Amino acid sequence: MLRLVLFDIDGTLIHTDGAGIKAFGRAFEMQFKIPNGTQGMKFSGRTDTGLARELFTRHAVETSRENFQAFFDCYFDWLAHMLTEVRGDVFPGVWRLIYDLQSLPTPPTLGLLTGNLRLGAELKLRHFNVWDFFQFGAFSDEHENRNEIARAAHDRGSRLAGRPLRGEEILVIGDTPLDIECGRAIGAKVLAVATGGSTLAELESHRPTWAVTNLEKVRAREICLR
Ligand SMILES: [Mg+2]
Repeated sequence: MLRLVLFDIDGTLIHTDGAGIKAFGRAFEMQFKIPNGTQGMKFSGRTDTGLARELFTRHAVETSRENFQAFFDCYFDWLAHMLTEVRGDVFPGVWRLIYDLQSLPTPPTLGLLTGNLRLGAELKLRHFNVWDFFQFGAFSDEHENRNEIARAAHDRGSRLAGRPLRGEEILVIGDTPLDIECGRAIGAKVLAVATGGSTLAELESHRPTWAVTNLEKVRAREICLR
């Protein structure tokens, strides 16, 4: 039986109509006076710290602690602003899946496993009123590599459960091959959803436990009790 369900954010729970990517570009331009810096970069499934490192390296900006700090402070301001400007939404099936998981006789812990920084995740999810449903999260403040973030989420979930959780007790839900890979890194089951960066066929080729076009296709009882 599942004891822990870990949700990715962008492309899985919500889409921000590009607010995150736009904020990244505007913050980089403001801090380092380089316009259109993010052009040609692929964002889906990546971590914010990894993306910032790529952005800095592409444009020969020193990858110093101070530069990361200044860039992300500016990014959070732009993100909060952009979220009010764009039309994003919660994906179909998300509300019902959360409700159904919480209504199970022994509900699993719900957590976040995301490449967002914690504050970025909170800004995005609070904007759509989804933040408060999650008991904890693992973010890219602590690790740049998504598989390491998954390990942190596993550890935190185990601590909450009061015992080490086995892989088959954990479900990772995400929208890219990188989500599938990080789920596999902790031995978890993976539900891949084609609402974000990848097609259903692309996700299926990476052999997740389940792959669906959207979360309306998922029944909490089926995935939790199987
Ligand atoms: Mg995603």
